[in-house]
Amino acid sequence: MITIFENASVLDVEAGALLPDRHVVVENGRIREIAEAPVSASDARRIDVAGRTLMPGLVDSHVHVTAYSANFTELQRTPPSYVSAAAAAIMGGMLDRGFTTVRDVGGADFGLARAVREGLIRGPRLIYGGKALSPTGGHGDVRPAGIDAHDDAYNQPGLGCIVDGVPAVRKAARQEIRRGAHHLKIMGNGGISSPTDRISSDQFSEEEIAAVVEEAEMANLYVVVHAYTARAIKRSLKLGVRSIEHGNLADPEAIAMIKERDAFLTPTLATYRALKDEGVEAGLPAELAAKIDDVLDAGINAVEMAHRAGVPMAYGTDLLGAMHRRQLSEFSLRSGVVPAVDLVRAATINGAKLMRLEDEFGQVKPGLSADLIVVEGNPLEDIAVLTRPDTHLKLVMARGAITRSAL
Ligand SMILES: [Zn+2]
Repeated sequence: MITIFENASVLDVEAGALLPDRHVVVENGRIREIAEAPVSASDARRIDVAGRTLMPGLVDSHVHVTAYSANFTELQRTPPSYVSAAAAAIMGGMLDRGFTTVRDVGGADFGLARAVREGLIRGPRLIYGGKALSPTGGHGDVRPAGIDAHDDAYNQPGLGCIVDGVPAVRKAARQEIRRGAHHLKIMGNGGISSPTDRISSDQFSEEEIAAVVEEAEMANLYVVVHAYTARAIKRSLKLGVRSIEHGNLADPEAIAMIKERDAFLTPTLATYRALKDEGVEAGLPAELAAKIDDVLDAGINAVEMAHRAGVPMAYGTDLLGAMHRRQLSEFSLRSGVVPAVDLVRAATINGAKLMRLEDEFGQVKPGLSADLIVVEGNPLEDIAVLTRPDTHLKLVMARGAITRSAL
């Protein structure tokens, strides 16, 4: 099956330019050719893009597709069957916003990824790491202080697992690798939605972090860390972690170190704004809401510092429950300090490079997977065109299949 997008303005994310009047040929799920003249092929399906922008599908590098609620203690008690159904709805929503790949950093497993691949669930390509590793009392420990009992069965649908000590950490890492993880996620300091930890506390000993990094590298994978504070970022990087998530409380030294170590930063401003506005309504226990202020305002400063220092940033959102509808707001929230071209790169090629999948997606380029969107307007001039899918997103093609079209 051949599809030809005719009269397209192709967004070249590397060059940061629109290439007008191109004809893009898709065959067997891959981009075959970007031609400057009309292409003849008798049996092709032809789609007239009429000068609109054809660009790579969006990549969200920090999601939790199983987080149907902001109340993680409740999530842990929900049957996996319900959580899978909720995740299907969440992933369908992501696809309809133009996201053709998402990286799940806590919760999603090989079953969901398989369901997407086989077409049982409408959704973006799902890159997953299984459960996030957390120490007792850490960001993945959802028990209130008065509860000691804990169900560590893999089939319970929480976002994390509780592991203490090097042997336990190694075993959990190996279990996730056995289940096909693309990366391993650890909790490096406190978080908002976990009931007993403090943002300022580091999590895991250096020996434990080094053990996860070693297990990941042995499998040619990398480690992703939940880290807000400069101290947590620096110790993670020193121990070989490659993907820094959130980073709100970074200082200039931590930012410089991300760049030096060829690591990536994935800020997630969208979730703090959302939690502040409607988190409690979406299930966040009210007593945890005060933690939002510890990181909310600092987030934009970290993004600005990182941009000025030339740190590679990916697009992340980290939204929970009903707040997933704000997935495109990260563009607007960063737009005051990051130019549109770099926002587009964050949500395309940078995400692909972070996942080491730049030969698979992230650009409109021959040989890559046909993950494409058509938008009205030029995102390089006005990033807001990406934030209005109802009016501006005209077509979504994921892995060669059109999943939404108004053309
Ligand atoms: Zn997260």
